[in-house]
Amino acid sequence: MSAGLNLAQLQAVHYIQGPCLVLAGAGSGKTRVITHKIAHLIEQGLAPKRIAAITFTNKAAAEMRERAQGLIGRSARDVLVCTFHALGVRMVREDGQVLGLKPQFSILDADDVASILKDAAGGTTDLATARQWQWTISKWKNMGLNAQQALAQAQDDHERSIAVVMARYEERLTAYQSVDFDDLIGMPLRLLRDHPQVREKWQQLLGHVLVDEYQDTNATQYELLKLLVGERGRFTAVGDDDQSIYGWRGATLDNLKKLPQDYPSLRVIKLEQNYRSTSAILRAANNVIGPNPKLFPKTLFSELGEGEPVRVVDADTEEHEAERAVARIQSLRAGSNPPPDWKSFAILYRANHQAKPFEKALRRANIPYKVSGGTSFFDRAEIRDLCAWFRLWINNDDDPAFLRAITNPKRGIGHTTLGALGEFASQHKQSMFGALFNAMLPAAVPRRALEGLHEFGRYINDLEYRARHTLGAEASRTFLADWLREIEYEKHLYEGEDNEKAAAARWSNVLEFCDWMAQRAGGQVQDATGADVVTESKSLLEVSQTIALLSTISEREQEQDMVTLSTLHASKGLEWPHVILVGVTEGMLPFKLDDDEGRQEKVSDDTAQRLQEERRLMYVGITRAQRTLAVSWTKKRKKGREMVAAQPSRFIAEMALDQKTAREDPREKLKALRAEFAAKAQAAAASGTPQA
Ligand code: ATP
Ligand code: MG
Repeated sequence: MSAGLNLAQLQAVHYIQGPCLVLAGAGSGKTRVITHKIAHLIEQGLAPKRIAAITFTNKAAAEMRERAQGLIGRSARDVLVCTFHALGVRMVREDGQVLGLKPQFSILDADDVASILKDAAGGTTDLATARQWQWTISKWKNMGLNAQQALAQAQDDHERSIAVVMARYEERLTAYQSVDFDDLIGMPLRLLRDHPQVREKWQQLLGHVLVDEYQDTNATQYELLKLLVGERGRFTAVGDDDQSIYGWRGATLDNLKKLPQDYPSLRVIKLEQNYRSTSAILRAANNVIGPNPKLFPKTLFSELGEGEPVRVVDADTEEHEAERAVARIQSLRAGSNPPPDWKSFAILYRANHQAKPFEKALRRANIPYKVSGGTSFFDRAEIRDLCAWFRLWINNDDDPAFLRAITNPKRGIGHTTLGALGEFASQHKQSMFGALFNAMLPAAVPRRALEGLHEFGRYINDLEYRARHTLGAEASRTFLADWLREIEYEKHLYEGEDNEKAAAARWSNVLEFCDWMAQRAGGQVQDATGADVVTESKSLLEVSQTIALLSTISEREQEQDMVTLSTLHASKGLEWPHVILVGVTEGMLPFKLDDDEGRQEKVSDDTAQRLQEERRLMYVGITRAQRTLAVSWTKKRKKGREMVAAQPSRFIAEMALDQKTAREDPREKLKALRAEFAAKAQAAAASGTPQA
């Protein structure tokens, strides 16, 4: 397993006796250490299912599983490679009963949460406010606070009122047998902390836990990790303090600082060689991160040579910037033989909404691309409809799912009936589904509506039974096709959409989704190469349960030859030969740090902290590039609805310290070419030789 590892990496891989922290800059092979260490642990005799490797995204998990398999073959399949949240689902499913949760609980998405909050506040609030509360409540939950504790520490009346809503919100979640995303960390934490038998079980099971991107864990995740590994502390964490970019979501560098205190025997290993980028790119990265305070001193060097200078591109507007990015991609392809694949290019930006002009320009140029970290497949209405049905047959008490399923497709049950049912259910302290067969319900809703409700209830029970007994891909495919026919979902889509093409696109999403679900039920399936592989069959019920967690399509994306459009946050851990960082305009990156109205704001601690995080974000972006890097900025930027004059980001000047960055302007290039041509022509005329 020593192939392709340097000495320090080998040390990190071979040290399995106790806690180990690999602390190193971007592209130094931290993730590679994790993959190799999984293989090494198995070689040393640790059963694969006793190893857990925690990654930051589902996509990273899929990649790591694949790499580990490449190293040691099939046994890597049984390693638990997943995100903290997916691990949480597994723990809560196995042991949530002790917290009063059925194994078939529901996982709520952000929309459900907002609507429950709105409801918990008495229905008088708008959705936008509910979303703000959601943010605050999530923050508290990530700090490990429950509603009472949140109330106790609330700073003002506003926070106190949110804490009150939070208490009601939590009650509702219990009633609905549902959890939100934050609970997927908080509940496992409570399980391990408060229930010794559960804690022992997990500590016995896990022989080694590995964590990638450790710098972006939050306080509750760290607590969870500590309880999982117990006092023996058999874990390997890898991270880079300069790449901590999720502070706004509660990630904290304190976790890095605490490790040596909490584990005095911690072995800290530093990696110094960068295997990803050229020296020119690395220098730009170091210059940008330089001004940040250092948590640990680090040096990083590359032996890949100086490489191309970093290019700075200016553009008038975003549209212009997009054209230039496309032109750059085309000219880089034209300039080498064979031309680089489309997938070796990435365009990175700060915020999702910036993608649009680039999508348009790429489309116009017929360049295939994918948007990652953007609007997810699972956020589409049709997919959410289907998921609501799954959720309901998994957990009948999931009221938001009930409401969505019973009205999509419409089955002649109107809002008045549903309102009456809801009222009745809350009077009887039941879920809406639970209330369907309550003997007193007939007094509360009209007879005709009652029949419709009963029919729906029976149908869900029937589906649940069938899903439970549907095993493997083939059977699942048949089940899903039958079900869609029974509820006439295709017709529903065409009726709801004026535009036939849009309806057809939705229907094709539905089919794609169902096919993907069926694949996940396993049995005999085809892998990416078309070869038959046999995987463990799962029931469709089990498959549906994990669906709510998959927030991006990326996990199932096969390597396709496409240009990547991605936010900087979603680009973490990844690399591309050619990277274009766009929108590197003061006010966008760093994001408007000064006060919007131009009032002179004193540089508070908060502003300084934010600038540090912006700097790390830029550092992450730069260090994604392997061979060439361009950064572009626009002379005008949107501010609210207006366009205002803009300056290049301060980071551009900083990158260029002590190095040549080449300002790229095709017009200048053209001028130079013309001049050269004219000079040649002149010289030729003077010497009398004819022009070729
Ligand atoms: P990031 O901080 O961006 O997550 P990282 O530290 O996890 O980066 P990796 O992604 O593991 O770095 O490695 C960066 C690149 O260098 C990868 O292409 C990897 O295959 C390569 N690499 C790492 N170590 C070695 C090595 N010892 N020899 C050759 N290539 C290596
Ligand atoms: Mg990495």
